Amino acid sequence: MIIKYLPLQEAQKIAAGEVVERPSNIVKELIENALDAGATKITLTLEDGGKSNLTITDNGCGMEVADARICFLRHTTSKITTFDELQNVLTFGFRGEALASICSVAQVTLTTRHTNSEHALKLSIENGVITQETIIGAPLGTTIEIKDLFYNVPARKKFLKTTTTELNQTLQLFKAFCLSNLAVHFLLSHNGSIVYSCPEVTSIDQRIAQLFEPSLSKQLCDFSATDDSITCSGALTGAHYSRYDRNGIFMFVNNRWIKNYGISQAIMKGYMNVLQPQKYPLIVLNITINSTEVDINTHPKKEEVVFLHRKTVEHLITNTVKQTLEAHISQRLQQSSSFPQSYNSKTNPFQHFASEQFSPKRSVFKDLPLQHTYASSPFPDNVVPSAPVESTPQISFPLPEHAQPFAQESHIEESLSAYTILGQLHLTYLLLEHPEGLLLIDQHAAHERILYEKIAASFTQQETISLLFPETISLQKNDLEELLEYLPLLHDHGIMLEQISVNELVLRSKPVYSQAVNITELLQHIIGWIRDYGKAEKDAITRFITEKMRAQIACKAAIKAGDLLSQEKMQALLKDLNGTTNRFACPHGRPTSWLLPLFEIEKKFKRKL
Ligand code: ADP
Ligand code: MG
Repeated sequence: MIIKYLPLQEAQKIAAGEVVERPSNIVKELIENALDAGATKITLTLEDGGKSNLTITDNGCGMEVADARICFLRHTTSKITTFDELQNVLTFGFRGEALASICSVAQVTLTTRHTNSEHALKLSIENGVITQETIIGAPLGTTIEIKDLFYNVPARKKFLKTTTTELNQTLQLFKAFCLSNLAVHFLLSHNGSIVYSCPEVTSIDQRIAQLFEPSLSKQLCDFSATDDSITCSGALTGAHYSRYDRNGIFMFVNNRWIKNYGISQAIMKGYMNVLQPQKYPLIVLNITINSTEVDINTHPKKEEVVFLHRKTVEHLITNTVKQTLEAHISQRLQQSSSFPQSYNSKTNPFQHFASEQFSPKRSVFKDLPLQHTYASSPFPDNVVPSAPVESTPQISFPLPEHAQPFAQESHIEESLSAYTILGQLHLTYLLLEHPEGLLLIDQHAAHERILYEKIAASFTQQETISLLFPETISLQKNDLEELLEYLPLLHDHGIMLEQISVNELVLRSKPVYSQAVNITELLQHIIGWIRDYGKAEKDAITRFITEKMRAQIACKAAIKAGDLLSQEKMQALLKDLNGTTNRFACPHGRPTSWLLPLFEIEKKFKRKL
C-alpha cells in the first residue's frame, strides 16, 4: 500500500497555500475580519514588509472565550451555516479558513475582548494548537499578532520577495480598504514609522487626498451612472494626471476590491485619446450589482469575479469614463477661449457620446493641458500577448472594406525594394506601387520593427556610448529599491547605472540606439512593469520587462509620424524592413503595411462593377 493519510498539520500547511502566499494575503483576511466585526478603527503594524511581524488591532465586537478558542480551527465561521447562503453573503469572510490557514504557517497571538466581557483572553497558537492561554486587561476588540511567517514551511518562505515588494503589495491592498470604507479610521506603520494615518472621511476625494497627493483631491471628477441593475460610481483623474503603473486603478464590486482584466480594459478604453500610451489614471470605481449577477467564489482569495453579463458591465464603464471626461472637456471648452484651434468636431474624440442615464456629479479639474491628439505613437500596449494588457488608442484608417494588412503569405517572399516609391503621405505613410494595388507602409511602425529586431539580435553586445558627463537620475526611494534587482538586466542592454544614494542613480553609458530615449522615463516605465507583474516568478518578470524595454527603446528611437523622409531614407527603410523576420507588425502588434487592392480602386472609379 502506498497511499497514506497526511498528518493533519501537514495537510493544513498545504491548504494554507491557497489563501496565504504572502503577508498581503494575511492582511487582507485580517482586515476583512475586523470590518466584519464592525470595527471603526483598524491599526496595522508591520515589520520587514510583514515577513517578521504583522499585527492588526481593531475595535470591533471581539470574541467570546468559547469562540476565540475555536476560531482558528478549519471550517469555523460565524458567517454562514449552509452552502446555499454563499450566494447572498454580505460579509467579507465566509469560508472559515483564513485564521486556520494563517495559524498553520506562522506563530500567532490572539487577544480579544468581547463587548459583554470585562477582561480579554490572550491565546498563543503554534502549529494550529493553543500553547498558552491567559486572561488580561485590554480594550474592546481584537488584536492578532503574526510572527515569523512560514517559519515552519521553508519551501514557501523562500518565495517571499524583498521587503519593498512585499510592503508595496500590502500598501496597495491597504489603500483599497481605505478607499472602500470611508467611515473607518485606518492606520499603518512600517518598521516603527507611520506610513498612513487616515481618520474617517465623508467623501472619496478626501480619502484620495489622505492616501495620495493632497492636491489631487481638487482635480478629481466624481461620476455615477446606472444601467438596469448595475450602478457604477466613483472618482477619476483626467488628462492632467497620469502614472506609469496601474496602481492608481482601484475597482470594487459590492464594496469588495477586485482584479478584473476586462474591467480595467474597459476603463482604459474610456481614456482613449486622453492619456498617452502606457500612462494610467487614478480612478476609484465602485460597481454595485445584484449578487445573482456576479460570482465572487471563483478564486480562493476572492480577488477575481465573474460577471454574468460581462459586456453590459464593461460597456457601461467605458461610456461612463468617456462621458465624465467629455463633460469635463466641454466645461473647459466653455471656460476657455484660448483653446487650441485644432480641437474641432473632427478631432474631438468624444463627440459621439451622449446619454441620458449619465450624470457627472461634479467637474472641478484645474488647468488641464489637453492631450487628445497624437503627434505620433498611438500604440496598443500588448508587447507580450500573454500578459494582461490594457487597450490603448489605435489610429483608425478610413480604408475601404477590402483593404487588408499586408501580411498575406503570397507576399512574404517579395522584396519591398522592387516597388516604386510614389511618395510620402501626410509625412506618415510611404506609398508604393505594388503589382496588385497600392501599398502603404507606416514609417514609424516599420522602423520600430526594424530597431526592435536589431536590439534583440545584438543583445549583450550593444554598441554603447560612454557618457563624458554621467547623468544623475533621481527617483523615489522605494521606486529605486524596486529597480535595483533589475540593474543587471539593464546593464545587459547597454544601460549602465550605478546607485549613488538612496534615491539617486548615475547613468554611465547607454546604447547607441537609445540616444532619443529618455532614460529616466524608461526607468519609470520599468518600475511600473515590475509593479504590474510583481507577483510573477522572477524569470517571467525578466522576460516581460526585456520585451517591453526593447519595444520601448525601439518606439522612442524610431522615425516618427510627421518626419520628412528623403528618397534615400525611404529606400533604406524598405531595405531594412525587408531584412526583418517579422516585418508585418510592429512590436506592439500594429501592422506595418497595408495593401489597397487595385480592384478596390477600380471599383471606386466605376471601372469595374
Ligand atoms: P471567516 O471570516 O470566513 O468566518 P475566519 O477564519 O477568518 O473565517 O474567522 C473565523 C471566525 O472568527 C469569524 O467567523 C469570526 O466569528 C471570528 N473572528 C475572526 N476575526 C475576528 C475579529 N477581528 N473580531 C471578531 N471576530 C473575529
Ligand atoms: Mg475571515
